[in-house]
Formats: sequence, C-alpha cells, structure tokens
Amino acid sequence: MNKTDFGRRLRVWFRRHGRDLPWRQTRDPYAILVSEMMLQQTTVAAVVPYFERWMKRFPSFEELATAGESEVLALWQGLGYYRRARNLHASAKKIDGDWSGKFPQEYESLRALPGIGDYTAQAVRAFAFDQPVPVLDANVIRVVARLFDLRTPVDTAKGLARVRGKLEELLPAKGGHEFVSAMMELGALVCRAGRPDCLVCPVKEFCAAKHPENLPVKAPKAPIKERTELAAWVWDGEAVLLQQSTARRWVGLWRLPPLDDQLTGGPAAELTYSIVRERVTLRIHPRSKGDLVASTEPRKAFSLRELQQIAIPSPHRRAIAKLLKDRFDHG
Ligand code: SF4
Repeated sequence: MNKTDFGRRLRVWFRRHGRDLPWRQTRDPYAILVSEMMLQQTTVAAVVPYFERWMKRFPSFEELATAGESEVLALWQGLGYYRRARNLHASAKKIDGDWSGKFPQEYESLRALPGIGDYTAQAVRAFAFDQPVPVLDANVIRVVARLFDLRTPVDTAKGLARVRGKLEELLPAKGGHEFVSAMMELGALVCRAGRPDCLVCPVKEFCAAKHPENLPVKAPKAPIKERTELAAWVWDGEAVLLQQSTARRWVGLWRLPPLDDQLTGGPAAELTYSIVRERVTLRIHPRSKGDLVASTEPRKAFSLRELQQIAIPSPHRRAIAKLLKDRFDHG
C-alpha cells in the first residue's frame, strides 16, 4: 500500500466529513486527557455534555487539583466507572504538584500517571502534541484489521501486535493529530462494526478485506455470570438512609445499605445492570434502621435535596428514583 496516497485520501475525506467534536478544537493536554478518560467505555454522545460541564467547572489541572473529592465525583455522576474520575483527580494533583504544572510529552512519563494505559498515553501524544504515534482504540483496530485482512484475534497480544505493526506502516512523518482523528472517524462513520459502508469508503481501493463484516476476529468470551445483590430501603418520609462504600468498585460512593440475609416477601424495587462479564439483579427490600446489622462503613440519612449533591452509583440512583416516585405517586 502506498502510505502517502492512503494518507491523502483519508485526510481529504476527514476534512469534509469529520465531526466537529468539542475536544477536537483544542490542543490543551488537560482538555484532551479529560475527554479521553471520559470516552473510555462511554459513547461520544453521552460524553459531550459532561465534558462541557467539567471544563467549565475545572478548566485546568490546577483547578481540578485543588477541588475536593466529593465535588469531583458528583460532577462525574452518571458517567459510571468512577475510578476514572479519581485517576484524573490524582493525575491533576501529580502534575500540578510534583511536576509544577508541566504536562509530560514522553510515553513513559504519561504511563506513570494513574489510570493512563497505552491507549490514553498515545492519544494524548497525538492529539495534544501532534506526534505520529499508533493510537489503538476499537475503531482504529477494526479499520486496520480490515484494511490488511488480519485474521489473528485482536484481543490477544499477538493479534494486537500485528495491528500495531500495520498501523505503524501507515503513520505519516508528521501530523499525528489529524491522522489519528481521521482513522478513528473512518471507523466510527464508515468502517463501522458489523456491516461497513464500503461503497462510500474513501480508502476502499487500499482495502484487502474480503469479508469485512467478519472482522476484526475476537477470541471466544467467557459466558456472562448472573448475580443478585440485596439492599435496604430505609425511608422516614423525609430522608433516605445510605451507606458509604469502602469496597473497591464503588469506594467513597453512597449506596443503599447492602443486605446479606435471606428475605421473605417480594422486593419493593428490582432492576438489572451489567458490569464486566456479569449481569447483576439488584433487589431493594424495605427495612427499618434498627433491622440493619452493624457495619464499619458510615451511614447517613440524606434529604431529597442532599441526594442531588452526592455521588451515588447509577444503579442505586435509579432504584432510589423509582422508589421515591412510587412513594409520591401513592401519597
Ligand atoms: S473498504 Fe470497507 S472494510 Fe475496507 S476500510 Fe473501507 S469501509 Fe472498511
């Protein structure tokens, strides 16, 4: 493949069809790091309003570094995977404190920041510093696997190394920002998961895929596990009792107090949610405060207004909203 011709075609298409996303307007490493952390496991459409709100409240590493954790988590609320917010907060403190506000450009230094893996480090180098480096997100991996008709599963080390090697062959000598953005956009808009839109693809003459809808190949996944969680609904007519988690998954967040007893009678609310390789059924049972067994985690009753200002895991927030609605609908 002639990489110069390929790059030119891609660039022309991107300049005409690329979306005008808020984080594409900036070269500020802080804004780019925020957008990349938010975009992990979350769609572009969901991230846009969060990104704009976040940048208004915390426009720089310095502002974020000096904020309290509860405010940081409350602003992240609804995006899920709160570890990303904590890592961003910890990164801001490190950059603002240890590195006197100077954001690193080198791969190793970026990887030393909390929660920054290979993808995020390379994305920041490309988008903030215009470096032509391999940025392997799901869209780029799919496009490269199809362009070169790669059949090794891309979720294995060997498969990913092949994709990286082929992507490196395509990288331009400069202009990493535009090249990476264009590859991602091609994957998002044309070379989509499932059935790609090859008829309108700007680089179809370079593409070796015979059955692109079957690519990229993935290794077989372990089956999804089913699990049930029980929690208590303690409501005195004005406030809801919550318990602050010290467990790794939701550390620092306020959730309905967990129950581990076998309960009789149906739950007051039930909903399901998914986490990595698990589908969880959350059942909420009415309880009085005195029924709860002692816990080392703090408990506190929150008024309706206070509930808006604290970070609550989204399945528990949904359950609370449903139970409050039922209470008010039925007087
Ligand atoms: S021709 Fe089809 S499969 Fe190949 S890169 Fe374009 S959209 Fe993807």
